[in-house]
Amino acid sequence: MIHTGRNTALAGRQEDAEELRTLVDLALGALRDASTKRTGPVAAGGPGAAASALGRVLDGGGFLTERPEPERLTELFEAYAAGAVDLTHPAAVSRMQCAPTAAAVAAELLAAALNQSLHAWESGPFALELERRLIAEMASWAGFGARASGTLTPGGSISNLMGLLAAREHALRRHGDVTRSGLTGLPVVPRILCSAAAHFSIARAAGFLGLGRDAVVTVPVDERGRMRVAEARRILDGLTSDEVPLAIVATAGTTDHGSFDPLPELADLAAERGIWLHVDAAYGIGALFSPSLAPLLDGLDRADSLAFDLHKFGWSPASSSVLLVRDAQHLRCLDQQAVYLNPSDDEAAGLTSLLSTSMQTTRRSDAFKMAASLLTLGREGMGAWVDRCHALARHAAARIAARPDLELLAEPVLSTVIFRCSPPAEGVPDPNAWNAAVRRTLLTRGRALLARTKVTGTDGEPRVHLKLVFLNPGTTEADVDELLADVAAVARELAAADREPGTDHDRPPADDRLMAS
Ligand SMILES: *Cc1c(COP(=O)(O)O)cnc(C)c1O
Repeated sequence: MIHTGRNTALAGRQEDAEELRTLVDLALGALRDASTKRTGPVAAGGPGAAASALGRVLDGGGFLTERPEPERLTELFEAYAAGAVDLTHPAAVSRMQCAPTAAAVAAELLAAALNQSLHAWESGPFALELERRLIAEMASWAGFGARASGTLTPGGSISNLMGLLAAREHALRRHGDVTRSGLTGLPVVPRILCSAAAHFSIARAAGFLGLGRDAVVTVPVDERGRMRVAEARRILDGLTSDEVPLAIVATAGTTDHGSFDPLPELADLAAERGIWLHVDAAYGIGALFSPSLAPLLDGLDRADSLAFDLHKFGWSPASSSVLLVRDAQHLRCLDQQAVYLNPSDDEAAGLTSLLSTSMQTTRRSDAFKMAASLLTLGREGMGAWVDRCHALARHAAARIAARPDLELLAEPVLSTVIFRCSPPAEGVPDPNAWNAAVRRTLLTRGRALLARTKVTGTDGEPRVHLKLVFLNPGTTEADVDELLADVAAVARELAAADREPGTDHDRPPADDRLMAS
């Protein structure tokens, strides 16, 4: 066997085990170095700093160098870690992106080394069994019966797409097999109902599925961001005879407020009209693990399809997303027989794969790291962490409500908090631009990562708001207080800077000035 040198080792080969160990040590070293050097959740300097860090690694060249340059790996690993967002940092509260458990990451290493796939029996015998068992177990979490099926997907957006694919096939089945014949010439106008607070992936899915984004009818929400069931009913009543409602999409845990659409009422409505009910619990699934929050998901068992992520609540690395259907037959539109992958006599002999439950062919084993995370946390551990994130959100909300310079929008439902900076007595020219600039300034200085959104007030006016997303159970109340103090201090600084345009020594980049929109 010819070894061309260190770093060209194959990960799964025992002779190369020492080389893999050296590289893993290099990776762990980069992780350690980055965290000792980092002073905030992200390196200061914004996009420019990331681009120049990569420029230094590449040194004018590209990745496909003419000759091997394994020594560059050290630089690449270090730069990647140094330029990464530290999801374990208490001020990294912008995205629904969790810091994964060590167990899941170790499983990822093993999964990558073995590179199993799920598209043919011999591409991953154990990985196939593992995913089947995990899907069955998850179906029982949801309260689905023995006929349930599902698949792991690359994210909630794809899980939603697949749920709506199943809904489309189901609703249009009396017009034939639309997977085969397409939608062209169909004498129906498809509709999908979701709330105004539903995730954008619903409309995108409608586009991908050939229904068109215009097929989506948005149902108004109440003051807490929940779909108004009476409005959904009214919309259904008003559909013309050629309009066919393919699905009602209920969001369990909206991206901003974390609100839960009323699942039991929507399940009643869907059952009464014979409409598919898809539940998007990409974020809200966390409630399931907490005995005190679980009632938010009452009615989940009545969904026809369910999407959820364990790479938000779940502490499993991306991608860890799940699509479940109440009845396996609803995934039949994915059936695929390929003479070279799953000939029927092989399947009859038990050599089956998961090719026919997925949109993908080669597909990595996401179940492995999810299983590792679940085993190390247990239901109790998961529930305790979800409760902890919920408590942090409530703490932040109480502190915001108590501060005159910050304004709380609403009590948190799960683990998000929406608020904005209230202008000082002297005022600011544009409170929306000012709030947006506060976020960008914290971000480019590497101090804190906050999210932003727009919330329409009772006056019909959309306003920029800031958002905190708590997914890190290690964060303390003191961390939250410090974060809010930082936000308020930057807000004051930017408001003052705007009043004194002469003093620009310590000003943020032009992009962050109030006049920037
Ligand atoms: C995050 C989220 C999604 C998208 O999930 P990805 O895993 O990011 O693709 C969909 N719906 C809701 C409600 C979400 O919060």
